[in-house]
Amino acid sequence: MTTKPRSSREEPVWSHCNECGHETQHNVVQLIRKSRDYDHDRHTVSVGTNWRVLQCCGCHEVAMSRVDWCSEDDPHDPYVPIYFPPRVSRRKPDWLVRQEVPAYQGLLDEVYAALHADSRRLAMMGARAIIDKAIARKIGNQGNFVKGLDELQRANLLSHQERPIIEAAFDAGSAAMHRGHQPSVDSLNTAIDIVERIIHAEILEEKAKELAAVTPKRPPRSATTKAKKQD
Ligand SMILES: [Zn+2]
Repeated sequence: MTTKPRSSREEPVWSHCNECGHETQHNVVQLIRKSRDYDHDRHTVSVGTNWRVLQCCGCHEVAMSRVDWCSEDDPHDPYVPIYFPPRVSRRKPDWLVRQEVPAYQGLLDEVYAALHADSRRLAMMGARAIIDKAIARKIGNQGNFVKGLDELQRANLLSHQERPIIEAAFDAGSAAMHRGHQPSVDSLNTAIDIVERIIHAEILEEKAKELAAVTPKRPPRSATTKAKKQD
């Protein structure tokens, strides 16, 4: 077994940056190779791992990539690196980063963690759990998903066009739960769009109530008119 850490003069590589939120050029700050040889069928086979410490040329964020290889691999098959931390395809919206949402926080954190790890089945199950919870908070726990969707539509939180999408996505969520089905990235993103909109609407509704409670009431028009007449 050999391990060779060294400063690298490798060419910069293109990779997704979690901070920048898109693909950027990264300098390879260090390359560490680990490999070993063994005999197989009277010839030598090598297996190894290449670790790279990467730094974004834009924001200077640091990440690591790992590639496992074998001398017997098909040279036309490109290696797909594993990244640490995982590459984040979807970030929390700014309003969710700025404030906690106690009713949903635990579930939300786990859904985004599942999204970041590309655990689509778990993310979809979590999205469904959040929408179930939102429905229960709005109309009580009636154990009726269809009625709940009716209510969200009435509250303009779910459009006529989105309803079949969310129903299909939720069927995929059930299939993920019971039959191990992997939802597509598109249907998962649609489900998360809807989850974010429902929670944001709840926050805005609360804020509107708070604002109304602290705003001094305007006196009734008749009382103002009377007061002016007495002057
Ligand atoms: Zn960056």
